[in-house]
Amino acid sequence: MSNEVCPRCGVTGQILLALSRTDNSTHVCTMCGTNEALEVAFDILKPQTVWAFPVLPYNGSSGFSGSDSSRARAVSEDSNGITSDRQRQTMAFLESRLSLGSTWRDLAEALCWHHGQASGALSVLHKTGHITRLKQTRDRCAIYVMPNMVAGREESPYTTKQTRQEVREQAMTDLRQEILTSIQAMEISRPAFVESYAEMVHAIIDLIQKAEVGLDIDEFRDTSSD
Ligand SMILES: [Zn+2]
Repeated sequence: MSNEVCPRCGVTGQILLALSRTDNSTHVCTMCGTNEALEVAFDILKPQTVWAFPVLPYNGSSGFSGSDSSRARAVSEDSNGITSDRQRQTMAFLESRLSLGSTWRDLAEALCWHHGQASGALSVLHKTGHITRLKQTRDRCAIYVMPNMVAGREESPYTTKQTRQEVREQAMTDLRQEILTSIQAMEISRPAFVESYAEMVHAIIDLIQKAEVGLDIDEFRDTSSD
């Protein structure tokens, strides 16, 4: 009830004074309380499954890929509204795509997100049953659709095996991004070429190690129950 993110509308920095009419225990902002009163009056009260974000199915987190910085970022984004915004935007994007659905790449390109942000949002919403993953792929990436848009196609249930694949994908995307960023930095500051190059090599090695660690332990996601 303190100064936090309203789980219904995602607006930050307000005191959640209203109780949601969906369960009389979830705190929402005053505006949402008023809107819910109207929805009740017209018998169109929205259930929490369509608005309660963020969903945090990995032991109370949206999940991370093993490194300390990744963990710190997840904790921060889960509490400051960024995770809930991404989940809402992901749901809205999938709704707009109807039976075409979206791969992580489609979502990343549409919303200018990097791989980890897009695949993280899709993975969490898939795990919680908000969206469905198909066996069908596009550009070798799994297609996600809203549950009412499966249209008889074969579904791909959530498994930790797939999550390991996602950890690998994310690590490799981070690696590519690190190389690109380093090359751009070298172009800007040629005198510092040698130092920049050394830093880049260290960064690449760190990332490869992280990728290996992520594949081997992946402890955080594996211990969460399906
Ligand atoms: Zn609200």
